[in-house]
Amino acid sequence: MAEIRVMREDLLPPKEPPRRHLISIGDLQREDVERLLGTARNFERSLERELKKLPTLRGKTVVNVFYESSTRTSSSFELAAKRLSADTMSIKSTGSSVDKGESLKDTALTLGAYDPDVIVIRHPQIGAPQLVARYTGAHIVNAGDGKHQHPTQALLDLYTIQEELGRIEGLHVAIVGDVLHSRVARSNIQALALMGARVTLVGPPPLIPRGIEAMGCEVSYEIDAIKAADVVYVLRMQQERMAEGANYVPSLREYTARWGVTPERLRSGQKVMHPGPMNRGVEIDPVVADAADALIEQQVRSGLVVRMAVLYDLLTHGPAGVQAAAVHEIGAA
Ligand code: ASP
Repeated sequence: MAEIRVMREDLLPPKEPPRRHLISIGDLQREDVERLLGTARNFERSLERELKKLPTLRGKTVVNVFYESSTRTSSSFELAAKRLSADTMSIKSTGSSVDKGESLKDTALTLGAYDPDVIVIRHPQIGAPQLVARYTGAHIVNAGDGKHQHPTQALLDLYTIQEELGRIEGLHVAIVGDVLHSRVARSNIQALALMGARVTLVGPPPLIPRGIEAMGCEVSYEIDAIKAADVVYVLRMQQERMAEGANYVPSLREYTARWGVTPERLRSGQKVMHPGPMNRGVEIDPVVADAADALIEQQVRSGLVVRMAVLYDLLTHGPAGVQAAAVHEIGAA
């Protein structure tokens, strides 16, 4: 008869599950994404009612801290928390020239004193969300850290694609433009690959990081490559993140001429997405931005319900995933 051995850990009470954060798409498994998209769909239905507020997160506190400018992300997180009846507080900073690690730590300690349940943070430095996770007891949501990650953007993009095209698996998405400085591109490459889509990055060689294929995507330096995709995802030229004096492209005008997404470069029926803010006439032709096949407004609408789903998921301890990422020191932006 097999011997049954009792291990010491079996006699101990179950450990507290680790505090959950959403810092990177890498925190998620496919089933987490499916659960979040399903929750977002339910919230979307709830918003069709006349009374849009749900009591779900009554008594919870959500703090939004934005060290970088934002329109869509900050407003949708705030509205998402309000629609779920949470108390919200928004702190904006235009960034500062003081030692960012030190000032962020102080801000985190100050906010932590109010015992918030969730802190949503956007910061120009990679690793800022992990630092706040270390100094507060809140669940942390990364609303964009430097050029690293913007996980809720990728989730709302997946949601938009799923709702508009009926599936994600097997679709071909071309991401065009300044991939080098784009946290949206990084999060989307991971998220789309996780859900079984094919991703091709298209842009001038200096704006496509070397070796990025290792993330599970293809690369093309020919703008014509976008014609083969089901979805064309356009990125902004993120000049605020470009090293001073670096010439990634000869000029914006030249960029537009060679890489701008124009009606002529698209095939009919292709869907076009953009995370915003758009620079019309630079990376995207206004005709493309306003066409019926552009999903840009749908993306904004999806942002609200997806962020409601993320807050709900973190606070109701949904199953698995969204684990605390390893804490590391703030790195270079
Ligand atoms: N809004 C997006 C971000 O925060 C994209 C952009 O700024 O171009 O990364």
